[in-house]
Amino acid sequence: MSELQIYNTMTRRKEKFQPLSPGKVGIYVCGVTVYDDVHLGHARSAIAFDVIVRYLRYKGFEVNHVTNFTDVDDKIIERAKELGVEPLQLSRMYIEKFFEDMDCLRVKRATAYPKASETIPEIISMVQKLIDKGYAYVVDGDVYFDITKAKDYGKLSGQSLDQMLAGARVEVDDKKRHPADFALWKAAKPGEISWPSPWGPGRPGWHIECSAMCLKYLGPSLDIHGGGSELVFPHHENEIQQSEAANGVQFVRYWMHNGLLMVNEEKMSKSLRNFFRVRDVCRDYDPSVIRFFLLNTHYRQPLNYDIDALNEAKRSLERLQNTYRELIEYRNRATGSEDAKALCEKAIAEFEQSMDNDFNTRDALATMFNLAREANRLISERRLSKLGAENIISTMERFDSIFDILTVSMKPQNELLPKVIDLVLQVRESARKRKDFETADAIRKGLEDLGIEIQDSADGPKWKIKR
Ligand SMILES: [Zn+2]
Ligand SMILES: [Zn+2]
Repeated sequence: MSELQIYNTMTRRKEKFQPLSPGKVGIYVCGVTVYDDVHLGHARSAIAFDVIVRYLRYKGFEVNHVTNFTDVDDKIIERAKELGVEPLQLSRMYIEKFFEDMDCLRVKRATAYPKASETIPEIISMVQKLIDKGYAYVVDGDVYFDITKAKDYGKLSGQSLDQMLAGARVEVDDKKRHPADFALWKAAKPGEISWPSPWGPGRPGWHIECSAMCLKYLGPSLDIHGGGSELVFPHHENEIQQSEAANGVQFVRYWMHNGLLMVNEEKMSKSLRNFFRVRDVCRDYDPSVIRFFLLNTHYRQPLNYDIDALNEAKRSLERLQNTYRELIEYRNRATGSEDAKALCEKAIAEFEQSMDNDFNTRDALATMFNLAREANRLISERRLSKLGAENIISTMERFDSIFDILTVSMKPQNELLPKVIDLVLQVRESARKRKDFETADAIRKGLEDLGIEIQDSADGPKWKIKR
C-alpha cells in the first residue's frame, strides 16, 4: 500500500500522514449549531469527513472521531424565544433530526458527539487557565481573549490581523480592548439560559467550546482537525490561540478543510436563504445519488449545486448500480473463463493510490466506473467466469465500503408500491371471475402504460417492473 498524503491547510502543501501514536488517529470535526434542519452544505462536510474516516479505518488506523453540537448560542436562544421553547429543548429536537438526516445519508456515527451544554466544567477551567496565564481578561462578567498576547495570529489562514479584520464581520463591543478580542465567556442577559461561573452566571463563547472538547476527548494535541473552509478564520485561528496558550503544545498536526457548496456562485447558507434541506433533497433523490454527486468533486474544491448536475449524477450512478446488479445476476449463469484477477488487482492499486493522494475521491470513483465498464464488456462478450464475476463484485464492494453508493435505499413509498399493485391485481382477478373482461383488460393496459408488466400463470398473476 502506498503512503497517505494529506493536504495541510497550515503548511499549504500535501504532507505524509504520521499520527502522534502509530496506528491511532484522533480527529475532531467542527459540527453544527443546532437551531434548524441541516442543509446540503452541512451534508457536504459530513460526507467528506465520513469518507475520510472510513478510508483511515480501511488503512488499518484505529480512529477516534469526535464531532460536536453547538447547543447554546445566540441563534438558538433567539429561535427558541420565537417558538416559546427552552433553548436546550430546541437544540435537542434538532439533534434528533440531525441524526435522522445523517442516517439517511449513510454517514457513519462518530465515536463521540459532545455538546457545549455538557462540557461547561471543562470550558470554565480552560477559561480560568487563560486568565491565570495572562491571555484573557474579565469585564462585567464577560471574559475576552487578549489578541495582543496571541502568538503568530493568522498562521492558519496566512493573513495578517488587519487583512483578516478587513474581510470579516467583527462584533462591535466597547468592552473589548481590541476589536479582534473574542469572547470566551458571555455574561447572561436577564432571563437568559446560564451556568454559574467564577465571573458570574453566563455561557461559553463559540470558539472555546471546541478547544475544551478537543482537550477533553482527544488530548492537547490532535492528529487531524477538520471543518468547512469558512471556519479557518476566525473560528480555527481562535481555537489555535486558546488551545496553544492553555496547553503549551502544538494543537493540531494536520488541518483539513472542505470546500464550500455553492449555489449560483454564492455559498449555500442559512443566512443567504439559498439552501436546500437534506430532508427535502432526500425525498426526491436516493442518498446514493447525493453521496455520489458530492464525492465526485475533490473535497477541497468548491462545488456548485444545481438540479441538472444532480440529475446527471443520478444517470451516471444508475449505470454503475445496474452493472453491480447485473454481475450478481450473471454469476449464476457465467460460462466464460476470465477470472478478472489482474483487472481487480490493478483497480485496487489505482483506487488506493487516488485515495492516498489527499483522499482524491473523484479519481477513485473513476477507477470504480472503469472497472464496471470492463465488467460490462466481459459480460457482453460472454468471457467472464463465475469466479471472475465474484472477484469484480467483491472489488466493487471493497470500494463501496468507502463510498456507500452501490445500493439504493428502499424508501417508504417504494415499500408501499408492491402492496398497491397486488391490490389492483386482486380487483382485476375478481373482474375476470365475473367475466368483466373489459375492466380486466383496462387494468392490464393501464398498468402496462405505467411500465408494469403482468403475466398470468397457473398460480395467479405475476408482475414485474419493466426497465
Ligand atoms: Zn474546531
Ligand atoms: Zn469548532
